[in-house]
Amino acid sequence: MRDFKYFQPTDIRFGSGKIVEVGAAVAKYGKRCLLVTVPVEPIFEALFDKVKASLKSAGVEVAHFDGIIPNPTTECITAGAEAAKQHNADVVLGVGGGSSMDSAKAIAVEATHPGTSWDYLYFRDSQPTEKTLPVIAVSTTSGTGSQVTQVAVVTNTKERDKSAIYNAIVYPKVAIVDPDLMLTIPEHITASTGFDAFAHAFESLLNPNASPYTDMMALEAIELLVKHLPRVVQDGSDREGRAALAWADTLAGLCIANAGVTLPHGIGMAIPGMYPHVMHGEALALNYPAFTRFTCPHAISQFVAVGRIFNPELREESDQAAAERMCEEVDQFLKEIGMWFGLADFDIPQAEIPDLAEQSMVLPDNGNNPRVATQDEMQELLEQCYRR
Ligand code: NAD
Repeated sequence: MRDFKYFQPTDIRFGSGKIVEVGAAVAKYGKRCLLVTVPVEPIFEALFDKVKASLKSAGVEVAHFDGIIPNPTTECITAGAEAAKQHNADVVLGVGGGSSMDSAKAIAVEATHPGTSWDYLYFRDSQPTEKTLPVIAVSTTSGTGSQVTQVAVVTNTKERDKSAIYNAIVYPKVAIVDPDLMLTIPEHITASTGFDAFAHAFESLLNPNASPYTDMMALEAIELLVKHLPRVVQDGSDREGRAALAWADTLAGLCIANAGVTLPHGIGMAIPGMYPHVMHGEALALNYPAFTRFTCPHAISQFVAVGRIFNPELREESDQAAAERMCEEVDQFLKEIGMWFGLADFDIPQAEIPDLAEQSMVLPDNGNNPRVATQDEMQELLEQCYRR
């Protein structure tokens, strides 16, 4: 048995209808709340009204900042931090996908510290302190696990860079995971966010910081995703499937908070950093076929375990054969959920691949892959991702 440590401070409230608990959860941490969301569209109106009513009945005064965009930028965070200061907020509530929950965390930092959120990235000397406002997270997608992580991803459009605050101070105090909130997610976003959760679970198995605890959760998450994601992509109203995906997403979030991700996430951050029209899950999906073949010989046991979840008949095959077949199983899974594409499908110029390769090496993710890519190998991997 390996030695390990495992930490998770978030109070998780999981289940259908749990959104009614949001007011009381927030009231435990403050009386003046900044609600952080994407713009109010008809699809979200009822949810935002319900959240505000719950806050009001718990005696919490709320200001609503609805300026978040997918792949949130430093500019949106600064506007949100201004709103927090104007409202004299003492707690921040993020309701939405990873973009809204991460923004709530970054706003909680920027509203209470000099400079901007970009000054507090994981590698900087200045780190957020206990002055950071408490954050409550309500997830409405099943993908990023942000409701249970210490990560807030932000995009700096001027620098064409995407990076993250990574500090235990931004762990949400409470995470509300109510699968009913996910019934409205459109097919493609279900697929893209679901594949992100798969990538979190699989990469945490590969990471040298993996533990028996994270392995157990990662394998459970993968089992749930393999079984339910294709079905829910076909039928978004499948309540049991939505609950399974929400739980898989939460498990995978607990895995990345403790083990971390690997090479695909280095690429998965670099692509939307340079081309913000690409979703995080899309950036992962387009590099998985090349990544699995590059990594497989260096992580046979993990590839075998996951291959046999995809296809129990692989129990009859040798470990070597089952591991190799796992790469094909992932290809098939991507096709089944409509996530089979290359860089060219997003109009990314092939001539920019060298810059993209350089950018994909910046985060520690590649360094945690069982096979660490050199810059030339990273470029070759990206060339393989160009066309499908
Ligand atoms: P998102 O939050 O960007 O949302 C994508 C789209 O889905 C948006 O248009 C949003 O309005 C819509 N949407 C959200 N919930 C919906 C619902 N219930 N019904 C209908 N539409 C809905 O997507 P995401 O993939 O959840 O988050 C991506 C962001 O999270 C990226 O910036 C990524 O880098 C980051 N991320 C963070 C972590 C972390 O640990 N903090 C991990 C992985 C990724």
